[in-house]
Amino acid sequence: QAKKSGRNQSVLFKQSLRLEHNVRARIDHELRKAIVKNELSLVFQPQISTVYGELVGVEALLRWQSSELGTVSPAEFIPMAEENGQIVELGLWVIKNACLVLRQWQHNQRRPINMSVNVSAGQLTDPNFLKNVTEIINATGVDPTGLTVEITESTAISEMDNVRNLLEQLSGLGIRIALDDFGTGFSSISLLRQLPFDSIKIDRSFLSNLTRESQDWYIVKAIQDLASALGHEVVAEGVETNQQLSLTRELQCDVVQGYVFSRPLPLNELEARYFLPQNRKIRRIS
Ligand code: C2E
Ligand code: MG
Ligand code: MG
Ligand code: MG
Repeated sequence: QAKKSGRNQSVLFKQSLRLEHNVRARIDHELRKAIVKNELSLVFQPQISTVYGELVGVEALLRWQSSELGTVSPAEFIPMAEENGQIVELGLWVIKNACLVLRQWQHNQRRPINMSVNVSAGQLTDPNFLKNVTEIINATGVDPTGLTVEITESTAISEMDNVRNLLEQLSGLGIRIALDDFGTGFSSISLLRQLPFDSIKIDRSFLSNLTRESQDWYIVKAIQDLASALGHEVVAEGVETNQQLSLTRELQCDVVQGYVFSRPLPLNELEARYFLPQNRKIRRIS
């Protein structure tokens, strides 16, 4: 009996592996056509200063609405694109489109709004990355000091010497560098002195259960103290409740990004909410 059910389970397992394989093959196949079919878009999540309560930047996040597969989450297709190399082309699409938006804002808005883009290891190690980014900056006419590149710890440690070189060159262009998902990797603290970061994004796992003087509270406090002593800005990611928000203020995090302010928004919604003249007036009156 045990043997029989074991065999059934292994048949099921093989079937689900095959299914999984088919799904991945379809995603892979459809993703290759996504740019040409105009299925990609960016959404923008507000980053709010804890001191001034104002919009100081946004993070551009990639979305894919496939005509064949429906909405596919970045958590699903980004890792696949990293594996099969498509991330290089997708990443350039993201940077170009984010720069077009940023250029527009740099023209129209009084206050500077920073634009953050996520960059994967496969992009940083692409030998043409710096040249391509420089070309995008020149072609769009964007001021690169308004641009931030977010990398994760695992990205940072892959081929450390090359990555350090590249980040220093990006820094030299005026681009800011952020360490994303801080605290989830293995070498967080030593990375801080090896690479030229401007800001640190504390991973949302430290904020999702934040209460006063809990373990996470002390961890966030320690990260904040360390980062500010080293001159890095601190962004608290994934803040969802007003209670967490007031704790991040107490802990003196500089910037908050999370559902408590807004989910990532399409460009028109973001602009309507934060930039429209009538909204600005309302804010001045109040
Ligand atoms: P990330 O860079 O850490 O981006 C933050 C993620 O957390 C986003 O998920 C955002 O929607 C989500 N988030 C923000 N605030 C909250 C909150 O209060 N609560 C919760 N539960 N979640 C929150 P998203 O858009 O699904 O992206 C997932 C990941 O996919 C990103 O994590 C990033 O690693 C990757 N990704 C997205 N767009 C790009 C891209 O253009 N290029 C690359 N290389 N990676 C990207
Ligand atoms: Mg990010
Ligand atoms: Mg993050
Ligand atoms: Mg992440």
